[in-house]
Amino acid sequence: MTTILERRLLTLPTPQLVPKTIWLAFSKPEYAIQETRKRTLEGVTFYDFTPEQEIRTRNLLESTGLPLNNVSGVNYAPTPDNRRNRIVLAQCEMATGHLTFFKSMEALPERAQMGVGVHELAHENSPFSEKNNALYSTENLRAQAMMHAINIADQSLQTNVYFDSYHKFLAQEYKEGKISRLRFCEETHAIMIELRFTNTKHLEQVQNAQLAKGGTRRILSRRFDGSGQFFAEGVDKTLLSLMPQFRNVAQLDAHIAGLKSSLSVNSNPFGK
Ligand SMILES: [Zn+2]
Repeated sequence: MTTILERRLLTLPTPQLVPKTIWLAFSKPEYAIQETRKRTLEGVTFYDFTPEQEIRTRNLLESTGLPLNNVSGVNYAPTPDNRRNRIVLAQCEMATGHLTFFKSMEALPERAQMGVGVHELAHENSPFSEKNNALYSTENLRAQAMMHAINIADQSLQTNVYFDSYHKFLAQEYKEGKISRLRFCEETHAIMIELRFTNTKHLEQVQNAQLAKGGTRRILSRRFDGSGQFFAEGVDKTLLSLMPQFRNVAQLDAHIAGLKSSLSVNSNPFGK
């Protein structure tokens, strides 16, 4: 984490400081750049999957709607020995974009498998890398996504309210100096994106618990007063920047609801 970058980004306008109409124009994704985002894994090699597993896993990742530009290859590998008593499900090599899913995935229900896929794609589309500017449309939108992840990571530490046991575990590792601030913020980003797809209600509960304990940052969008419209912010803003095919929070919600209802309780994309 470079403090210079953070300080520069803190000078960006925020909705509170800029009249709403100007802010909306300013924050509108640049649709012209949309075609730079790759939404299929055509040409990406899958290693050690059966042909059926490969098709199902490709579908699972492509159906998320997230940019797939950085995915350079996908592996299916034996689960490594438990690391500090945690079962590893997947990993993303951020320098190369190579994804590895482990056989431990097979024990998860399909919705949780999708959550892991989304989590890894959140790393692939990290707002902490300047090379991902185009995937967010602009440097400004990427920077806003990055600042949101930093703010919520800090707010989680300040309020001692975490998204799940993994997030809490990472916070402990960070406090003990075992992982960097960048890593903690990066994981906070990926966990938020994952939960937005799998359990928005839980994100809302964490947000409300953090606000009740003195937090000031929202995780999710809020409704405009007296209307059903949402003002996109937080993780919703991050996702709409990455997926301008959805123009507002309602369309994003519909996409996620459709994705969830398409998952079958009996299906197991990573299964044999
Ligand atoms: Zn992660």
